[in-house]
Amino acid sequence: MENRRVAIIGGGLGALSGAIRLAQLGFSVQLFEKNPKIGGKVNEAILGDYRFDTGASLLTMPFVIDELFETAGFKRSDYLDFLPVDPMCRYFFPDGSAMNASADKKKMKTAIAQLSPNDVEAYERFLKYAERIHNLTAEIFMFTPIHELRRLIRPRHFRTLFRLHQIDPFRTVHERVSRFFSDPRLVQLFDRYATYNGSDPFQAPATLNIIPYVEYGFGGYYIKGGIYRLIEALEIVARQRGVQIQTSAKVERICHVGKRVNGVQVNGETIDADYVLCGADAVVAHHELINGHRHQQKKLNQLEPSLSGMVFLWGVKGKQPALAHHNILFSRDYRTEFKQIFKHQQVPDEPTIYIAITSKTDTVHAPTDAENWFVLLNMPYLAPGQVWEHEKTRMRTVVLRKLKQHGFDIADRIAVEQVYTPEDFSELYASNKGSIYGVSSNSRTTAFKRLPNRSRLLKGLYFAGGSVHPGGGIPLVILSGKMAATLIAEDHASRG
Ligand SMILES: Cc1cc2nc3c(=O)[nH]c(=O)nc-3n(C[C@H](O)[C@H](O)[C@H](O)COP(=O)(O)OP(=O)(O)OC[C@H]3O[C@@H](n4cnc5c(N)ncnc54)[C@H](O)[C@@H]3O)c2cc1C
Repeated sequence: MENRRVAIIGGGLGALSGAIRLAQLGFSVQLFEKNPKIGGKVNEAILGDYRFDTGASLLTMPFVIDELFETAGFKRSDYLDFLPVDPMCRYFFPDGSAMNASADKKKMKTAIAQLSPNDVEAYERFLKYAERIHNLTAEIFMFTPIHELRRLIRPRHFRTLFRLHQIDPFRTVHERVSRFFSDPRLVQLFDRYATYNGSDPFQAPATLNIIPYVEYGFGGYYIKGGIYRLIEALEIVARQRGVQIQTSAKVERICHVGKRVNGVQVNGETIDADYVLCGADAVVAHHELINGHRHQQKKLNQLEPSLSGMVFLWGVKGKQPALAHHNILFSRDYRTEFKQIFKHQQVPDEPTIYIAITSKTDTVHAPTDAENWFVLLNMPYLAPGQVWEHEKTRMRTVVLRKLKQHGFDIADRIAVEQVYTPEDFSELYASNKGSIYGVSSNSRTTAFKRLPNRSRLLKGLYFAGGSVHPGGGIPLVILSGKMAATLIAEDHASRG
């Protein structure tokens, strides 16, 4: 294993994806996670008789996970059951109407026809348009380390590079969605997809309309037993491939001699390594783990963090048959909600409420005649002037009031409770300003400004995870780990 030692920082999905691939390629891999268990933002909590996923709740692009298992010589279906969720989401609009969204095109068209018959044809056109963006961009923006010129400038990418205007970067998500749909409820529904990578539909480029294509084209999934089962399965794969995992092991410093990394410092001890793959937030890492480089730190501070969130885990007595596994209760004024969040970094007066109830699918996650509610609100990243202890209480009242207005009066039925604020996300996962997806895509140049998978400062240092290319969300961070591992293997081969 001479010259093939890799130290991995963090046990999030991007890092795990990189660790497994590198071990499979014959590298000696040590992974250090500061928390008592791995998984990062994919996490779970047990409160009394209730079980919750506390982070990601919806899985898209399942083939990305299948590929990771296959690369390591495993079959995903031997470890995990992916269950398609239908309806993918039940939407509740401010006027009291509701709609089930489905990846089944026929069902979706019927649901749209009931809401707004004129928009059925618009939906078909929108999907074709989103598919075109997907076909033009997926290869470059999702599967290629775009900061590596020699990989970007390839004949098969020319088609996209010469047709960049066709990926709709000059309008915002909202501007484009409003041109397709006449019913404001459908505009709000399709605007929402910008939040899948933590962005603002009123600022993010319409290129992000690739996201609804991914969801309606490839489906939305739940993992039987909970999304955290993914981490448990990957831990088995990683250990079997020889990855050494140390938990409660905080990396304090990335060590280097001149411009070449030579290890990491963990709990005061120096661990020698030939390569370091950082799966921790790259902005935080540049501030806290790498000495000096003020200019780079200043540059990174200009990257706008993604949305943060406030999460209420509620064990709720009684059942609510009107709710599905995934639900959205939209705010009355989406534009104001995002303006408050991104422009003013304020807690929105009236947030959109997302509720995931895994006990609808996995009945054992709550006692009989009860449900486990994961309630997520869009929140600003951390900024001066916010007082989260106060906002926690205020938002609890706002949410319970709004739920009651929609006919879900649960205030007296909450048996167990836990709350997470942006401060908690920052503390728990060392994410930049509590962001939950890394860097936002609120400008058309973000895709290129996001940090690359290979450090420009230090030789032998690589990055994976939501804060670097290609961005946040389960499938993309797994792809980031793949890109980082591929670059390490290539660089190692060229060192001879
Ligand atoms: C509430 C919430 C809801 C979400 N919903 C969805 C969803 O439905 N679908 C979806 O696809 N995605 C969703 N996401 C996003 C998705 O979970 C993340 O994009 C993804 O899990 C992040 O992976 P990562 O590789 O960036 O690592 P992270 O999960 O950020 O993990 C980084 C790890 O590094 C560790 N670490 C940091 N610094 C150090 C150090 N110095 N030493 C050692 N360890 C360190 C941290 O403790 C952490 O475990 C959600 C996220 C949240 C929080």
